[in-house]
Amino acid sequence: MGSQDHRFPCHNCGSDLRFDPGADQLICDHCGSAETIDHSPWDRNQAIKEQDFSATLRASTSGVEMEEARTSQCPNCGARIEFDGAVHSKECPYCATPVVTDTGATRQIKPRAVVPFELSEDAARQAMKDWLGRLWFAPNGLTEYARKGRKLSGVYTPCWTFDADTKTRYTGQRGIEYTTTRTVTRNGKRQTEPHTKVRWTSVSGRVARFFDDVLVVASTALPEKFRTCLGQWDLTRLEPYLPQYLAGFRAEAYTVSLEDGFKKGRTIMDRQIIRDIKFDIGGDRQRVQNIETKLSDVTFKHILVPVWLAAYKYRGRSFRFVVNGQSGQVAGERPWSIWKLTLAALLVAIIAGALGYTAAVNQG
Ligand SMILES: [Zn+2]
Ligand SMILES: [Zn+2]
Repeated sequence: MGSQDHRFPCHNCGSDLRFDPGADQLICDHCGSAETIDHSPWDRNQAIKEQDFSATLRASTSGVEMEEARTSQCPNCGARIEFDGAVHSKECPYCATPVVTDTGATRQIKPRAVVPFELSEDAARQAMKDWLGRLWFAPNGLTEYARKGRKLSGVYTPCWTFDADTKTRYTGQRGIEYTTTRTVTRNGKRQTEPHTKVRWTSVSGRVARFFDDVLVVASTALPEKFRTCLGQWDLTRLEPYLPQYLAGFRAEAYTVSLEDGFKKGRTIMDRQIIRDIKFDIGGDRQRVQNIETKLSDVTFKHILVPVWLAAYKYRGRSFRFVVNGQSGQVAGERPWSIWKLTLAALLVAIIAGALGYTAAVNQG
């Protein structure tokens, strides 16, 4: 994925082609010609096949393809971005911080598959405007910013996906609620009232689940809240990695290692396993005491998912908008307009005052 790898000159005019979101082609913004992406015949499932997790960690000959990636690291948010020779503005797409240092080439696991962009830049900007339009308390400068139609950056964000077969033994307790009465003394008076109690019995059992494509974002450039707001990517739309999909976009290199990514994946799996156990225990309440999970057939994929980003500085602070490049879901941060908030508070006070006045008049 060196910077040369995802540049495709137009056969007609020589300008750089870019991947056309939602279409299976590269287009030229300069002369308008289009080129269909050439998928050499491949078996799709073979091309996106899972890779053995522990073998890769042991760095054994597992057939995992490595690559040299030339990236620059943002001094503010830590994102490692590949800057194409054609991209002039070396601003971090995540936080609008100028990036100058070239951190050089690093050896890393090569992406296996890509969810190609489906949303065009215009569609992403529209999604952002709609989202902003619903924010009444945003400062005018912000709404202005969106209207001006500043460029968004299309970034392929790195992710890990994990598969695992799990078998879990557990011990715990099942609680059955029942109602009794109790006598209480209130204001010097003795009285009886219903009271719910729980009868606990010890239980043990087993649950099993096969996890398929547990997704962990391998970038720490975006805070956790963004990642959840962006929702899910439909991984049935994964395509085998082709540099053409990256033409005109930026690729971010992973900053969460395979090992750390797996730890996050395990947390997601463990949460689900606890839900499974509670369901298995049944009753009205559940206590889970001991869990022993055996994992087998752990595999992973390194994939890229599409994200449209807009980062801007407003009164010295960075704010970000993120649009899921597949589903169009929007997440963002924004400053609040103190002026609008004050006005709203004032309006509420006036209305409340008016209502109070009417009520007083009616009573009088
Ligand atoms: Zn052209
Ligand atoms: Zn940054």
